[in-house]
Amino acid sequence: MTHPYFEQVAVVGAGTMGNGIAQVFASRGSQVLLIDANDDALRKGLDNVRASLARVVKKEQLTQAAADAALARIKPSAKIADLGREMLVVEAVSERKDVKAAVFRELDAAASPDTILATNTSSISITEIGAFTRRADRVIGMHFMNPVPVMKLVEVIRGQDTSDQTTRTVMECSEALGKSPVEANDFPGFVSNRVLMPMINEAIFCLMEGVATREGIDTVMKLGMAHPMGPLALADLIGLDVCLDILEVLHKGLGDDKYRPCPLLRRYVAAGRLGRKSGKGFFDYQ
Ligand code: NAD
Repeated sequence: MTHPYFEQVAVVGAGTMGNGIAQVFASRGSQVLLIDANDDALRKGLDNVRASLARVVKKEQLTQAAADAALARIKPSAKIADLGREMLVVEAVSERKDVKAAVFRELDAAASPDTILATNTSSISITEIGAFTRRADRVIGMHFMNPVPVMKLVEVIRGQDTSDQTTRTVMECSEALGKSPVEANDFPGFVSNRVLMPMINEAIFCLMEGVATREGIDTVMKLGMAHPMGPLALADLIGLDVCLDILEVLHKGLGDDKYRPCPLLRRYVAAGRLGRKSGKGFFDYQ
């Protein structure tokens, strides 16, 4: 691999996003230390990578030997203290500020001073995350989309003190992964969720006000706007609790009532209707 930051990387968090991120780096030749505090999550993360690589082999986009080599490049670990000479760390732990704070303090202490600490956060301020460390110039958002091996975009978000050099390196690394990075600044929701979530929220208002049925709303956006998936089905896929959390961040952070979460969304979340993961959201998945 050509980029020096690429040779050895670490990914913290082996969940939905972390195992996908580990897979794309390993597939492009990086040695990957995949860290998760939970043994079970680590095992499941590696199982997901294995299954995902098998699908790529089946589609004849990768040979079995290359898939085996990629998997062999991922080394699981339970501790951030196992960090070695990695120049780039991508954090993908749970979306809670207290958890990110603890992880970034630990990463700052364990990683070499030159190492870039990137975060995959969807909604927490990169500037605040940078302030948990003594290297805010080397802290940056590297926002991959789900599913990571398939989606081309990486939103690269600069915090208040992120340096030009850090930004350039992360843009180059994203390109070396075969992705298309887009640079953004640190405002709530960045670009992706600032544009997406109000659309989903408005679709929920349409449902609540009886403008159309749930199927009708999704069909309008699929057939009329060529969206591959309707906004209500997409909300179910993302998780209604996650959508609510992100809308709260937009509402609070931007201080504009146009981001207020729809009461129907609040009611669904309160009832435990969280979308696909709970079997029921705007649509039924049982
Ligand atoms: P997830 O819940 O699937 O995985 C999080 C993992 O972090 C878990 O395996 C957990 O064991 C681990 N973890 C928690 N605390 C830890 C710690 N202290 N040290 C090490 N590991 C720890 O979450 P996810 O959906 O993969 O999301 C991860 C991040 O990616 C979040 O910041 C989220 O906002 C962001 N994100 C998610 C999506 C998505 O569609 N799921 C899309 C873009 C960005």
